[in-house]
Amino acid sequence: SKVKEPKPEWIKIKLTAGEPYQEIKTMMRSKTLHTVCEEARCPNIYECWANRTATFMILGDICTRACRFCAVNTGLPTELDLQEPERVAEAAEQMNLQHCVVTSVARDDLTDGGASIFAETIKAIRRKLPLCSVEVLIPDFLGNKEALQIVMDAKPDILNHNIETVERLSDQVRAKAKYERSLELLKRSKEMNPDIPTKSSIMLGLGEEWDEILQTMDDLRAVDCNIMTIGQYLQPSDKHLYVKRYVTPEEFAELKKEGLARGFSHVESGPMVRSSYHAHEQVKSAANA
Ligand code: SF4
Ligand code: SF4
Repeated sequence: SKVKEPKPEWIKIKLTAGEPYQEIKTMMRSKTLHTVCEEARCPNIYECWANRTATFMILGDICTRACRFCAVNTGLPTELDLQEPERVAEAAEQMNLQHCVVTSVARDDLTDGGASIFAETIKAIRRKLPLCSVEVLIPDFLGNKEALQIVMDAKPDILNHNIETVERLSDQVRAKAKYERSLELLKRSKEMNPDIPTKSSIMLGLGEEWDEILQTMDDLRAVDCNIMTIGQYLQPSDKHLYVKRYVTPEEFAELKKEGLARGFSHVESGPMVRSSYHAHEQVKSAANA
């Protein structure tokens, strides 16, 4: 429908920008680093930053793709910043992170899609903060197996790759990415190292049917994906896909049960859940699985 759904009361955005928020923002800018928290206009930013949790976005803030749900700028990136891994590690150290999430734009212009920078970032964080767990949320590298191997060789604590939506809506919602290719990536990463837990996320409210959500869970479990996060899609601007429906908190709770019954070690499911939300708790549950 073209009519905008009014936001229900459970979509709550905490509007107070506290002290840690300002401090972290200043630090990120001084190190010329980007965060998904800001770029994706994540509604949890004040809560997460107050808890000293952040998701770094490496490889620049210009993406070679233009997914219709995503607020990141699209264009042709011009640079490759080889010092970035070190600055991410310094920032993680300054924030004294226990769990660090690193993601990137899709760099289809680079031969390895930026995989080597992911690997360097994992290593740099390990050097500075040996006890900090590192989760990488990677793009599909256009199906490039060698690129995935480079990331896996650096041994992240969690390998995260988002399938984003159900199979039927994949082509409308995601640019260039393919449902099957995302499953393939998750499967391959298990073949490369079965000890590294894998994780994937979907957004709801884009027109998917209940059975299609359950099918997506089954598809993820079929490639032994361990952790799933499920959240409500929110339209970042009028130019992006409309919200078709606000899924109720009760439905999210039901989906969590469905996921756990299917054997995921951890399911984070709720209106405000994002891929990196409560990520630190997921590391623990994956380790205990
Ligand atoms: Fe950042 Fe993730 Fe928290 Fe959103 S949920 S503010 S992207 S760490
Ligand atoms: Fe956004 Fe899509 Fe680019 Fe990822 S690949 S940053 S979701 S436009």
